[in-house]
Parts: sequence; C-alpha cells; structure tokens
Amino acid sequence: MDVNLVLRSTRVITPEGTRPASIAVSGETIAAVLPYDAEVPDGARLEDVGDDVVLPGLVDTHVHVNDPGRTEWEGFWTATRAAAAGGITTLLDMPLNSLPPTTTVENLRVKQEVARSKAHIDVGFWGGALPDNVKDLRPLHDTGVFGFKCFLSPSGVEEFPELDQEQLATSLAEISGFDGLMIVHAEDPHHLAAAPQRSGGAYADFLASRPRDAENTAIENLVNQARRLNARVHVLHLSSSDALPLIAAAKAEGVKITVESCPHFLTLTAEEIPDGATEFKCCPPIREAANQDALWQGLADGTIDCIVSDHSPSTADLKTPDFASAWGGISSLQLGLPAIWTEARRRGHTLEDVVRWMSEGPARLAGLTRKGAIEAGRDADFAVLAPDATFTVDPAELQHRNRITAYAGKTLSGVVTSTWLRGERIVDRGTLAEPTGRLLERNN
Ligand SMILES: [Zn+2]
Repeated sequence: MDVNLVLRSTRVITPEGTRPASIAVSGETIAAVLPYDAEVPDGARLEDVGDDVVLPGLVDTHVHVNDPGRTEWEGFWTATRAAAAGGITTLLDMPLNSLPPTTTVENLRVKQEVARSKAHIDVGFWGGALPDNVKDLRPLHDTGVFGFKCFLSPSGVEEFPELDQEQLATSLAEISGFDGLMIVHAEDPHHLAAAPQRSGGAYADFLASRPRDAENTAIENLVNQARRLNARVHVLHLSSSDALPLIAAAKAEGVKITVESCPHFLTLTAEEIPDGATEFKCCPPIREAANQDALWQGLADGTIDCIVSDHSPSTADLKTPDFASAWGGISSLQLGLPAIWTEARRRGHTLEDVVRWMSEGPARLAGLTRKGAIEAGRDADFAVLAPDATFTVDPAELQHRNRITAYAGKTLSGVVTSTWLRGERIVDRGTLAEPTGRLLERNN
C-alpha cells in the first residue's frame, strides 16, 4: 500500500489503548499504526500534532437535519459543518422533521439527492416506521437505511404518527424478518396523558409532565416485545435512570437491546434550568442531578452503550418561554465532545472511555465496520483534541443554523484542533474545507 500521509502524536487512542504512534494513511484508509518514531515512507507527508490526542472520528447516530422541508431549522450544509467542527466524521440522519420523512424508498432518494452536495462529513439515513408503511420497510432496508425509528407517543409532527403496541409488534415482526434494527423513542402515551399538564415557564411543571414512569413503562413493554419476537431494538435518548436495572437484566438474559444517552442528560441538570429557558427543553426531559449520577453509573458498567447528540434544532421563534408549547430539542452537534469530556474527566473517566461511548459504540450500533476505531483497514477519520485547553461557549461561534444552545456561557475542556475525513483534513483550527462527505448505506 502506498502511504501518502503519516499522522503522528504522542497520544493516539487505539483499541489496545493510548500510545505514542504514527498513523500511516494510504488514500482514504488507515494502512498501519506504526511506532511513534517510525521512518516516514518516501513520498509521504508528515503531520505531527505534538501532544494533542488523536481520536477516531466520532460517530453520531442521532441527528435531526430536517432537510429538505424544514431547512429554516437546519440543513445538511450547516449540520455537517457543525458536526465536523465538533470532531464528528459520520452522522446518521433521523427520518422525521424533514419533508418528506424517510418512510419510503422514494422519499429516501429525495433526501439523498439533497444531502449529496452539502455533506461535509459522511452521512447515512435511518428509515421511519409508521402505522401505515409496513410494506415499505423491507424495500427501505434493501436500499441501505441503517434501521427504523418509531415513536410510542406523539412525535410532535403530524406526518410522523406513533405506533401503538399492536402496530409496534407488526413492524417489529417485519423488521426482525430481515434482521433489521428498530430504534425507539420510548415514552408511554398513557403515562404522559395521565401526568399533570401545566403551561408556563416553570421547569418543574414541565418535568412533572414527562415523568420517569412514562420511559420506564415504555422500555419495559419494548423489552417484552423484543424478547417475544427475538427482535433487535435500541432505546433512544435514555433519560430515566430508573430503567437501567430492567435494561441490564434484559441484556443479561440475552434480549437484543442497546441503549444510548445524550450529552444534555449527562452534563446538565433540572436544578440549574432557569424558568422560561426553553433552550433546555427536550423529550424525554433533563432530570435531576441524582438521576444524572445514575446514568453515569450506567455508562461505566456498560448498560448504556453509547452517547449521541439528538441534535434537534428549530428556529428561535419556536423556542417560546412557555415549556408546554415551545419546540422540544437541544442543539449540540459541535459541543458534545467537549461537554462530555469535561464531565467525564470530573468523574474520573478517560478519553478512551469517551471514544468507546462516542465513536466505537455508535459505529457498532449502526454496523459501520469502517468507522469507530484507529486500526488498519478502517477509514482514516480522526478528531484531534487538545484535551486540557478550555473555552467558553459563545453561540456566535457555532456552525449550526440557529445559534440557540443550552450550553451558552459554559466553560468546557477539550478543543478540537483538526478533523480528518478519509485522509483529508476537513477542519483546521475552526476553518472548514469544502464538502467531501459521502452518502453511506448499511453494509451488512
Ligand atoms: Zn431525536
């Protein structure tokens, strides 16, 4: 293999641990991870990043790009720029909030066409499972979606209705017939309907309207369905730590279930949210500090498999100060890595843990065998991080379209100094290259 690039650092995070190394890159692929002082092959360029840490490019499997259809909220151009600036080299787009939603092959083609020229990083697509599109699931699978998202409670947009338990069983049976994956927004609609609904700016009222029991019950039902149908399921954006024991028990007995959580649940707490601050609104909601401690325990013991952004932006006018009516969604593509690293370090975790949760874990979830690790044969995707450098979040420096953020004013550790996609530097100290991202299809 002709090596054309050597990326050298005193700290390269590989599956075997962190060590000084020279990563030999041939075209788009990692050719070898060599000793630090290995001779640079003839014709290869050396890039020495010193003591900055080289991580495998992050993989974010939960992003709402909303393109086409709601491009005033976001779009592939801005979303992938924000992701690249945050050290993410692969994202998977959620099937809803775009118009059309990704619920038929025809709609998938529309979305791929829109994304193609705007993608600064590699982009793949989840399909959607609706009450009336069971016949579309296999064709979507055959066309390369990575799995299917469904809701068990109202999604917030009328074109993407939720499944009841019977419809969930029907879709799960269909999907497990081709060994597909169902990813689930797990909040039980009956518990939500029974919860007190009070409008206004008080965060405590909003929190009471999305109780932990709604998550716990939905996850319990999902475990039962997955067990009965031998189906592969994934719990999206886990917030309620009460569900961890039942998830751990399901995993131990062999139920095919995986779980993600998100930077906002792991770094922000209900106690700190000011009244009317709906940039903190998402569903399920950010809960109390003690809940957050338990989620970190779930990460540490492996019950939670990965951390992904659930970047779900909107225009500022939809973030009214009323928690009941404001659009729910937190924008964090660019900030997930420093937010998580800051908190992980405080809790005694390492950057290797962060890589496991934010690169390796999501890549495994999506079956992205060329992503998620620095080892020979994988794509030469890297995030280079100055782990001790700090910065204060200034919304004006964010790349996503509507610069609303729950992290404004926070001081975070970890500055992404460069991002590399398949052997090319796409971010260099905040300066972004022209888009070279590729559209990905499921490869198994
Ligand atoms: Zn989402």
